[in-house]
Amino acid sequence: MYYNENTTVFLDGKWMKASGAMTDVYSQTLHYGSGVFEGIRSYETEDGAMVFKAREHYERLHYSARKMHIKLDYSVEELVELTYELLDRNGLKDAYIRPLVYLGQNMSLQPTEKVHVLLCAWSWDRYLGDGLLRLMTSSYQRPNPKSCHVEAKVTGHYTNSILATTEVKNNGFDEALLLDMNGNVAEGPGANFFFEKDDKLYTAPLGNILAGITRQTVFELAEELGIEVVEKFFTPKDVYGADGAFFTGTAAEVAGIESLDGFDFALPWEESLGAMLSTAYLNRVQKKEYKNFELV
Ligand code: PMP
Repeated sequence: MYYNENTTVFLDGKWMKASGAMTDVYSQTLHYGSGVFEGIRSYETEDGAMVFKAREHYERLHYSARKMHIKLDYSVEELVELTYELLDRNGLKDAYIRPLVYLGQNMSLQPTEKVHVLLCAWSWDRYLGDGLLRLMTSSYQRPNPKSCHVEAKVTGHYTNSILATTEVKNNGFDEALLLDMNGNVAEGPGANFFFEKDDKLYTAPLGNILAGITRQTVFELAEELGIEVVEKFFTPKDVYGADGAFFTGTAAEVAGIESLDGFDFALPWEESLGAMLSTAYLNRVQKKEYKNFELV
């Protein structure tokens, strides 16, 4: 359950019970998928609940809204402040926060005047779990960047993610890996993909993927740890039998991968760069790195 009778949400300038929040069934977003959203996490730290990279997430929300011709009237600062109030009102510290900007009634295919802003939060375990993932390359490609703004986090884009996830789960795998329109590896349905070969990490360049905030954090951590990260195009064949691989995402954090299309990665997860970065990531988000940073 995402909410109970005590859950409070922020909707259109008011605090209200989630169970009493109403929406317009003629919403353009509900019919056509034209809303924008974010996925953010807060962590309990020594200094209380801290929303990790709150500014970056709300800047991306503004970017997404701009690309979709949606007028978002709250500033980044206001949204960050409201997020802390949301956590406070719900007594949450380790939480997943979901801002959603959705549109009012409009059955035409033109921009919509009325804009609704919802902020809600719930406790959510790591999205892909704690075990190692068995991946399958999906037959669904990521949307062509000439058909939409792939770097915007748009509700309708996630029909592609749902199709890919459902396909691979029906085939007995844990998670999908999607290619771009040229047959290169792009990303997962809700996370960016990295693989390790000969002590270097490789990930797809921007262009056909969401510019993940966790991906960026992993770049920063890798630099601090002296790990080289190369952004380049590659195919599933380049990944088969590599040393290791992992997904990065706010909900998934740094999630280890066991195999792709049945080809196992060579290193045990604990010995891979992914495992090192997974620990470094948790330390960073929980602000523990100066207390028990056991990595180098
Ligand atoms: N790719 C897609 C398609 C996603 O939905 C997400 C999750 N927002 C990511 C990558 C990872 O982005 P982030 O690290 O900003 O959560």
